[in-house]
Amino acid sequence: MSAQIIDGKDIARRKQDHIGKEVQKLKGEGMTPGLAVILAGDNTASKTYVSNKQKTCRKLGMYSLLVELPESVSEAELISRIGQLNEDPAIHGILVQLPLPAHINEKVIIETISPEKDVDGFHPINVGRVMTGQDAFIPCTPFGIMEMLDSIEADVSGKHVVVVGRSNIVGKPSGQLFLNKNATVTYCHSKTADLIEHTKRADILVAAVGKAGLITESHVKDGAIVIDVGMNRNQEGKLCGDVDFQAVKEKAGYITPVPGGVGPMTITMLMENTLKAAKSVSKKG
Ligand code: NDP
Repeated sequence: MSAQIIDGKDIARRKQDHIGKEVQKLKGEGMTPGLAVILAGDNTASKTYVSNKQKTCRKLGMYSLLVELPESVSEAELISRIGQLNEDPAIHGILVQLPLPAHINEKVIIETISPEKDVDGFHPINVGRVMTGQDAFIPCTPFGIMEMLDSIEADVSGKHVVVVGRSNIVGKPSGQLFLNKNATVTYCHSKTADLIEHTKRADILVAAVGKAGLITESHVKDGAIVIDVGMNRNQEGKLCGDVDFQAVKEKAGYITPVPGGVGPMTITMLMENTLKAAKSVSKKG
């Protein structure tokens, strides 16, 4: 039997409706959640991502500020600009679009963002809070994955989760969130000796690599939940994931499509984090 499709677009739309209502409530109390996005340089893909983030912000009634800096911006200038935004009461969330120009140290920049405004959840304080199971800004893509699993009422506790990919923004935090929910987690990466031996034992398989067609039906256990984070272009230039969707959907229990899966959830959870940041300022009064 063919897998059930986890419709990220639909889940994102419902979640955004809810966020939009919460934004209106806050506005009624005199506060407009504000997100600042810093874009350094003119990477075409980054420009598209940033523009989508701004559009979603506005659609949900939030204040959106774009700070555009030239490719040649110095690390000191960028640090100074983030410092201003850290102090700006109209801004509740700050996001620095990655990748940064090569001469800028990404770690230094991320650590400059106030942890209370770190809506990407990349600051080591938020990373540590996630790791120790404390309240934190959860990185948007892993947060979106968990939201999708909630939407199908997946019981994660005791399940074997295999995460392929160990980046700081997707793979590692995804595995950690599953561990926090009592799953048994295996991480695979480019040095994993026999990928298939691990993936075929997964109750939940997360592919976050960036290689089209890496996960075939042989990698997947019958009935598994398959979450495809990958965003690649196939030979025809069409957007596709890391999973061979057509073949794997005949074996999996649930599967996320690309496009229309994890992507729309990522941007939605950024909005959720910005709302959370604004609410926590509102509570402090
Ligand atoms: P990275 O390039 O940072 O990480 C890729 C990971 O895949 C690394 O851990 C790497 O291992 C591992 N890897 C590479 N080749 C193999 C292989 N043959 N077998 C097993 N593991 C392998 O990528 P990101 O985590 O940033 O992104 C992953 C994918 O997700 C990309 O396609 C990206 O575009 C997409 N993405 C999608 C988002 C969305 O919203 N849908 C958001 C963010 C990312 P090693 O560590 O050993 O190098």
